[in-house]
Amino acid sequence: MIAWAAREHHRFEAAGKPFVYLVPSAAIFELDDAADALLRTLSDRPRTREELSAFDNIDETLADLARVQAIGEIGAPPPVSPKVIPLAPVAFETARSVPLTTMVLNVTNQCNLSCTYCYEYGEDKIVDTANGRQPKFMTEDTARESVDFLLREAGDVAHITFFGGETLLNFPVLVKTVAYARQRAAEVGKSVDFSLTTNATLLKPEIIEFIAENRIGVTISIDGPKDVQDKFRVFTNGAGSYDLVAPKIRELLRRHRTRPIGARVTLTSANLDVKKIYRHLTDDIGFWEVGFAPVTTAATRGHAISGDGYDRMLDQFRELAYEYVEAAVENRHHGFSNVQETLEELHKGVSKAYPCGAGLGLLGVATDGDVALCHRFAGSDAHKVGTVRDGIDRGAQIAFLEKHHISNKTDCSVCWARPLCSGGCYHEAHTRYGDTGRANLHYCEWIRGWTDVCLQIYGELSVRNPAFFARFEDEHDASQAS
Ligand code: SF4
Ligand code: SF4
Repeated sequence: MIAWAAREHHRFEAAGKPFVYLVPSAAIFELDDAADALLRTLSDRPRTREELSAFDNIDETLADLARVQAIGEIGAPPPVSPKVIPLAPVAFETARSVPLTTMVLNVTNQCNLSCTYCYEYGEDKIVDTANGRQPKFMTEDTARESVDFLLREAGDVAHITFFGGETLLNFPVLVKTVAYARQRAAEVGKSVDFSLTTNATLLKPEIIEFIAENRIGVTISIDGPKDVQDKFRVFTNGAGSYDLVAPKIRELLRRHRTRPIGARVTLTSANLDVKKIYRHLTDDIGFWEVGFAPVTTAATRGHAISGDGYDRMLDQFRELAYEYVEAAVENRHHGFSNVQETLEELHKGVSKAYPCGAGLGLLGVATDGDVALCHRFAGSDAHKVGTVRDGIDRGAQIAFLEKHHISNKTDCSVCWARPLCSGGCYHEAHTRYGDTGRANLHYCEWIRGWTDVCLQIYGELSVRNPAFFARFEDEHDASQAS
């Protein structure tokens, strides 16, 4: 006798209505009362058609839920769903079919700040930048070779992100690289665009002019108002950096109007007042958008976020996310970029085999031209996947993709949040567990809590202003360096 069972899903409510998020197809559906009741019943345990006969319109409701693959007959093969990246571990095909889109160029590994929590210089560092074999600054020749490498590997659109250390310490090479990349891209019929990440300490009129004239996207690492910024973002003598950077950032925002300028905030256990930080950076300083990321560090460090800290962070994210909804309903801008990014992934039905583009569409280049998984691993021999001169080492890349596929993360195989999380950042896993292949199980509750909030926001907007999602339909994907 045929029995029906619920397939893997996550139920949530939004705008007073029940919704379901289907795993792993990553589709979202609003349920009517009959479908909701039936799905809840089948979530308890499988049932035969006869056991369900008390439900009104049972055959119609069963057919509707089966059509969207929310339920299936016991013993039937699991549904095959289209994926952004194939779920089956076909690393060779994946490596060949996903072109490089973003190259993060570490133009220097030196920094003029000594941020206490920095993964690059603190106790969590992977690469020895002070005494290692990597040059402190990328040369113009290596930058040119990197551009040639990118244009060989990229499709029609290539993106260069300048990164550090403090990126602007090597401003002369950055200037030359922009000119060379423009010229070479035009010669080979591709388009290239640029962004950079900076701590803003070295901004000055001629640099701001260059950035604005060349339409370079800018992300500024800043933690918030003076008392927050000066806690961790300090010079080597311990002096805070707020008073230096705030006027420079205001000048950049005044002059550079062609690209939105974003702030990137590192949250620590001592610095979790998300709303206060957001208000300061948008209302007082004038940033267009603000993204928050919990600090990446070993659990034993004092500034690591744990248990209660994740709960507090989630509460604050939730409040800001609901502010975002009210703005979005009225088609007003709101700059909380974490929610915007997740809504876009939900809308596009993203179901990831890998947590991010590292090692696939995104690669990091060290100052000597070694190519690594991403900027955070640049210069690490253990995470090297080629050089800009010799190209991508396909063997190393495929071995990486085989090992890191979601199907190898057994803890994630029963988690409803895996279509978006896929085990989380490799660098975080390396810092916490010493292994990029491990799932970041220390923050699962936070990830599931935040994904649930974003699903509610998605449902709410789909009822109150469905036209809002049109903005996600034509944009090309751009991987971000974090
Ligand atoms: S790391 Fe945790 S939250 Fe992320 S997919 Fe795996 S089990 Fe789920
Ligand atoms: S999520 Fe982690 S591994 Fe991926 S690109 Fe960002 S820092 Fe690198």
